[in-house]
Amino acid sequence: MVNTSSVELVVVPCLSDNYAFLVHNHDTNETALIDAPEAAPIAKVLADRRWALTDILITHHHNDHIDGVAALREGARVIGAAADAHRLPALDLAVAEGDVITVCGLPTHVIDVSGHTIGHIAFHMPGPAYAFTADSLMALGCGRLFEGTPAQMWQSLLKLRALPENTMICSGHEYTAANARFAASLDGAHPDLILRIEGIETARAAGEPTVPSTLLEEKRTNPFLRADIPEFKAVLGMAEASDEDVFAAVRAKKDKF
Ligand code: ZN
Ligand code: FE
Repeated sequence: MVNTSSVELVVVPCLSDNYAFLVHNHDTNETALIDAPEAAPIAKVLADRRWALTDILITHHHNDHIDGVAALREGARVIGAAADAHRLPALDLAVAEGDVITVCGLPTHVIDVSGHTIGHIAFHMPGPAYAFTADSLMALGCGRLFEGTPAQMWQSLLKLRALPENTMICSGHEYTAANARFAASLDGAHPDLILRIEGIETARAAGEPTVPSTLLEEKRTNPFLRADIPEFKAVLGMAEASDEDVFAAVRAKKDKF
């Protein structure tokens, strides 16, 4: 049994608005990196704490998630989607939906969350309740659909929504304030949303990240997770529409917001 109290999560701001994440197990001295937007800020955290990377987990092929891999990978096992191996840095372990791998001594489940890209995966560590969702489910948002269809992204989000509500959603960007403005434009009278936006404004004014959030917060307030909620459909004037059509309409509005 892994003692999850000896597992630590570090959020590493990178580039202008990206996040990388480090998971460290103090019992085994293993350290995993999830996404590598750029090497320098990650290398600095590793040096300050005298941690060495044992694993690098890649969520998807976009440059702002992989550009730091080459400079950081020595001694580490690089893990990514088999389906995307042709456009990822060379993989030491290629994974697919349903695989359960061991990272930092922790069972880690691979979930296909295609939509933003085809081949985007998320990593779920049930022990410490972390989900690394990058540009799929984001704080009050979801990734733009560059490759997948709205129906694909909706199915991906439903998989993530089914995780335990205490799961910490470790997403890939600090887009939350803009996402909040959009959410408020749709459903500005929603009490949970009003409260959450106050918290977001306080955090950003103090220069603090709004990531990770909890899945419970996202279920209550993220418009992209609420496309099948009758009250939300009614607010949008889409009471009779299918869940997928509501999701597609919300995503289309966000693209133009
Ligand atoms: Zn991306
Ligand atoms: Fe990204």
